[in-house]
Amino acid sequence: MFSWPSNYDDCFTISGSITREGVGLHSGEKTKIRIKPYDYEGYYVSFSDTPNKIYKLDQSLIGNTMLCTAIKLGKRNLYTIEHLLSSFAGCGITYIHIEVDGKEIPLLDGSAIQWVKAFEEVGIKKVPKPINFMKEINESKMFTQNDSVISLIPAKQIKIISTIDFKYEAIGVQTYTIELTPRNYVNMIAPARTFGFKDQFEELNELGLIKGGNLDNALVCDGDKWINPPLRFANEPIRHKILDLIGDLALVGLPKAQIMVYKGSHSLNALLASSL
Ligand SMILES: [Zn+2]
Repeated sequence: MFSWPSNYDDCFTISGSITREGVGLHSGEKTKIRIKPYDYEGYYVSFSDTPNKIYKLDQSLIGNTMLCTAIKLGKRNLYTIEHLLSSFAGCGITYIHIEVDGKEIPLLDGSAIQWVKAFEEVGIKKVPKPINFMKEINESKMFTQNDSVISLIPAKQIKIISTIDFKYEAIGVQTYTIELTPRNYVNMIAPARTFGFKDQFEELNELGLIKGGNLDNALVCDGDKWINPPLRFANEPIRHKILDLIGDLALVGLPKAQIMVYKGSHSLNALLASSL
């Protein structure tokens, strides 16, 4: 049986190529990607209609739309990349080339577990560590945005402590703490699905956004209950917030630090990522 490492001492790429297809959250259109090992460290993207143009993903290219993380590549945007990036960073995987046939990364089940399973299918192999792989941090940092806070303190290993506080009773206040390792990421974080709210869903649908959002790829909360139970964990929402944070740090590299987050968001995570 496949076993993920219990520390980030080594860094990996995948041993073969993976193809996955599904709907894109924004367009609702079918989109397909092929993930392959690459000769250079980092994450590279090309589009199937311009295969010779290969972009290296970089923090400066990241933009946030209302609902997902988009990355600007030449004249196009590649949408909904955060869960795939989270799966790479969480598993300690780099040296990757992603070929995209479409505009988005497929949402699959709204978590990162399908990507992890795909890596397990082809296997992983050790590669030389990039300099930003588990990088040393010399100073503490803190950023705030309205009543949200993210802070980082240098540490020997990465530890994340995150809290959310929603007015919806089905979610309420949730706190989760994790000593991050590939094994803990795969077991505790990767299966946690994205979540949304019924009223917000209806509004966004009317605006023609999230055409691909449905009850198979997001947990939907309606006040004091979930529309599509069962949950995979009683505290699935806070675990998904941590999944998103790991994705938002993927391009700068996970830091050797204790990270504390209160009411996190992609834009708050981006403030921390840009400072690393
Ligand atoms: Zn997410």
